[in-house]
Amino acid sequence: MKQLVQKLYSCGELSQEEVVHLLHNLGPESRDELFRYAHMKRIERYGDKVFMRGLIEFSSFCRQNCLYCGLRASNVAAERYRLQPVQILDCCQEGYDLGFRTFVLQSGEDYWYTETILVDLVRSVKVRFPDTALTLSIGERDEETYQSLYEAGADRFLLRHETASRNLYKKLHPTMSFDNRRKCLATLQRIGYQVGAGFMVGLPGQTVADLAEDLLYLRALNPDMIGIGPFIPHDDTPLRDESAGSLEDTLVMVALARLFVPDALIPATTALGSLDVMGRERALKVGANVVMPNLSPVTVRKKYALYNNKICTGEESAECRHCLELRIRAAGFFVDMGRGDSLKSVTVKP
Ligand code: SAH
Ligand code: SF4
Repeated sequence: MKQLVQKLYSCGELSQEEVVHLLHNLGPESRDELFRYAHMKRIERYGDKVFMRGLIEFSSFCRQNCLYCGLRASNVAAERYRLQPVQILDCCQEGYDLGFRTFVLQSGEDYWYTETILVDLVRSVKVRFPDTALTLSIGERDEETYQSLYEAGADRFLLRHETASRNLYKKLHPTMSFDNRRKCLATLQRIGYQVGAGFMVGLPGQTVADLAEDLLYLRALNPDMIGIGPFIPHDDTPLRDESAGSLEDTLVMVALARLFVPDALIPATTALGSLDVMGRERALKVGANVVMPNLSPVTVRKKYALYNNKICTGEESAECRHCLELRIRAAGFFVDMGRGDSLKSVTVKP
């Protein structure tokens, strides 16, 4: 196993069979070796900095019906809210004053926010905070909308591919199409966004071969950002009785993602922190280099319930920022409040 890990470290490449073999046979020792190499690669590429992004969850309405997600349209128990553009700008202001220079605007697929409303919002954020990067995570839209939002000033877009298995994707997304998801990612890259893909670990029915496929897909896509988190069930979804993905499996995938796509920005996700109190710190030590403290108004945070027991729903933005800074330092890293563009985006100009 150690040879495979070393091979991956030195050339960033393994075949599907090799990844499957590695995942099946990782023992405690080879896993630690993998973690060490992933950490080395991160230090080589990004040093010991951790970038902070201010996350604003601006709407809990969603027209889609992903089986795993608490915001799915069929969940009648979900409490819905929608922040007005002026409220979103207030959140950005609070974040800006706390030192954030990247904002991530995330929501369910909520078409109340028309192309016009979104374009105005993006413009307003960029006019008011010209030295910030703006990331959107609003799901699938048509190419024209993605294009206008980019022209309005949006810099980055997060759209996880969720799973690279066509079959599993189909089962989990009754209202969505595997091909369209991939097409959206390709479109976003072509337009010029810094793009984030990613997947969940431990989805019901997910196999080791599926996870190997996720890594190979990421390697081919070569995204700027990669979000990997454990699947965590939500009580008001059809997957309520399924078990969550494990911390160790998720960490292994984070480490492998660092070795497969060395220049990617990889967050230590809130889902990992929700699964285990030290989940995010563990991720930072095996290749992750981003954290995304919550800047949403405290009054709405509990309502953005993607999964059970989501953390950081009671604290004010300043507390979240402070708490994460302490955690990052305690884990042996340093906070970087800059825009934190991906290495790919600063070396390859479109
Ligand atoms: N609606 C947008 C963005 C919000 S959802 C979109 O779907 O792209 C953001 C991410 O939350 C999803 O990409 C998914 O990977 C994750 N998520 C949703 N439900 C989850 C669950 N039960 N466990 C873990 N992650 C989940
Ligand atoms: Fe909607 Fe995104 Fe949840 Fe799917 S994952 S139901 S698109 S919020």
